[in-house]
Amino acid sequence: MTTVPDYFGSMVFDSRVMKARLSAEVYHSLKQTAQKGTKLDLSVANAVAVAMKDWAVENGATHFTHWFQPLTGVTAEKHESFISPAPDGRVIMEFSGKELIKGEPDASSFPSGGLRATFEARGYTAWDPTSYAFIKDKTLCIPTAFCSYGGEALDKKTPLLRSMEALNKQTLRVLRLFGNSDVKRVCPSVGAEQEYFLVDQSMYNRRKDLMYTGRTLFGAKPPKGQELDDHYFGTIKPRVAAFMEELNTELWKLGILAKTEHNEVAPAQHELAPIYTTANIATDQNQLTMEIMQKVAAKHGMVCLLHEKPFAGVNGSGKHNNWSISTDTGVNLLAPGDTPHENAQFLLFLVAVIKAVDDYQGLLRAAVATAGNDHRLGANEAPPAVISIFLGDELTAILDSIKTDSPYNGIEKRKIKLGVDALPRFTRDNTDRNRTSPFAYTGNKFEFRMLGSANSIACANIMLNTAVAESLRVFAEELEAASDFNAALHELIKRTIREHERIIFNGNGYDDAWIREATETRGLLNLRTTPDAIPMLIEKENMEMLLSHGVYTESELRSRYEILLENYCKIVRIEALTMIDMVRKEILPAVASYVADLVSVAGAKKALDAEIPRNYEQKLIMRLSRLNEAIDGRTDLLEASMIKLDTMGDLAREAAWIRDDILPKMGELRAASDEAETLTAEAYWPFPTYGDLLFGVK
Ligand code: ADP
Ligand code: MG
Repeated sequence: MTTVPDYFGSMVFDSRVMKARLSAEVYHSLKQTAQKGTKLDLSVANAVAVAMKDWAVENGATHFTHWFQPLTGVTAEKHESFISPAPDGRVIMEFSGKELIKGEPDASSFPSGGLRATFEARGYTAWDPTSYAFIKDKTLCIPTAFCSYGGEALDKKTPLLRSMEALNKQTLRVLRLFGNSDVKRVCPSVGAEQEYFLVDQSMYNRRKDLMYTGRTLFGAKPPKGQELDDHYFGTIKPRVAAFMEELNTELWKLGILAKTEHNEVAPAQHELAPIYTTANIATDQNQLTMEIMQKVAAKHGMVCLLHEKPFAGVNGSGKHNNWSISTDTGVNLLAPGDTPHENAQFLLFLVAVIKAVDDYQGLLRAAVATAGNDHRLGANEAPPAVISIFLGDELTAILDSIKTDSPYNGIEKRKIKLGVDALPRFTRDNTDRNRTSPFAYTGNKFEFRMLGSANSIACANIMLNTAVAESLRVFAEELEAASDFNAALHELIKRTIREHERIIFNGNGYDDAWIREATETRGLLNLRTTPDAIPMLIEKENMEMLLSHGVYTESELRSRYEILLENYCKIVRIEALTMIDMVRKEILPAVASYVADLVSVAGAKKALDAEIPRNYEQKLIMRLSRLNEAIDGRTDLLEASMIKLDTMGDLAREAAWIRDDILPKMGELRAASDEAETLTAEAYWPFPTYGDLLFGVK
């Protein structure tokens, strides 16, 4: 294995391997299953299982696992070895179709939000043949969905696959209206850009906050942060470069098309972007990417922080979810075409997305709501919690001229008649480099930028796929009933622009004036925190829409509502407890011991000679003693608030209490501690500072 093409995908049981190892018949029926969802029979599964096992064993695998994505947001696996006893006392390596298709992990400890009664605590995993199996750590990993025996989805993959199906169905309906009969299947394409921080392992090990919560709960601003913008696209440090090189190799072996890598805005922050693929595979690959980033970082003496806001006052990390709809004939339905006909179709898909984002803002916001992401979206950082769409000036002008039936400058001052006139070729808008828009059209795709760096991208894509499917369903219904298709199309597009233009905003989303305009004039939602956003999942209209497309059942949605709120509460609870622990065991004693030394210096000076000035010591003793009192007092207040939390009884009340009382108290405690840090001699401070962490990797 020397060159990249030699080893790219070498650990993936992909089409290439399948073609080589399966009979034409088996290969064909497997493809049918993957592409059309036809049922797989056991003889085919058996043949695939044997081929998969042989391939895996030849590549060093000893175990297999059903790899799935429970509602915790990480991936889960339970390894079983291929070993089977043979009559002669030796072992053989075995793997059957049944084991491939279905697994029964003892999954009673995964969150189910009440979906799984205890008497049937064992959900089952079912092979997803649309995503390739792969080898990781000598284990053949089989991507699977995870369901309860009642058939309810206990994972993120199942609703994602259902949402892709809904989008496929409604898109095909619309395409047929345009006379298109060759397209048999459409799929959302997704490219997820991943941001992360790298910090030194030995420093990380000395910070309980990073170890327990993934973010710093204390830390004064260093003299230098990101203000010089000298890190962005700057040269990559040798240790980081070595990490990136190994990361790429590992990802390439797994067939993940990691393509670009660069430094991000903040010091120690980086980004990785893969080449886009179908939403399902992109989701699996993003989970794998996050996992492998952490493993490779450890090998290089570093820790990869995926938290949305590891450092206060420094840019947080997100994930840009690039999304479009591709046909099996290779057409991107969100790319403007060359002919009037193609353009009319493009505009219809464009306004379908606009309508979807406006109608289901709440669901999109809920899909990215986590305790970690609240530090970005709800705070003074781009993108804001208000969802709006950036289209760029040219496309906006085109929509404006359609809306008002007025001439568009770009085409010789004529009115645009859809289906008849060619649209002007508009250039990709580059005015969006400020990156403040939460949802931007970037030439041939939409970029949903509100996802948190640690989030699975599944939920965002489930909501996006389904909301757009719903727009297309409404459109199809109207157009199917029309007698004059072109006239109806024109009217529909015009009306949709009118009804949903409030969601279009090309300005600076970071601006306070925008937030006021968005909420007060335009009536857009501003769901700043997770407890505000999560109830959107069970809001009547949202729920009915998701149910009508068969993406969730009501109990599945209610269970997700519970799990997400519970998760929020658990995370902040751990953070608060970690703070209390660090204050009492590290910060207060450190400051006290510094003060004690100052006192003894001041005392010695006094004993020596009453004339020796000791103003410096006395002032500092006063300031630090007051601060230590404040820190101690605020810790007690936080602790009391935590005790009160335990009496709330109800999840929604708990989450609200955390938002309104615990988090502000944590902020106050932190402020006093950070001030103490700035006054305490370096040698006394108990853990690495922001400066150490952010500039510590060379
Ligand atoms: P930029 O960095 O300017 O946003 P890139 O071309 O680098 O744009 O793309 C960023 C991400 O978007 C990559 O992951 C890329 O594969 C993905 N992407 C590009 N085209 C599409 C598309 N049609 N659908 C979905 N994702 C896409
Ligand atoms: Mg991008």
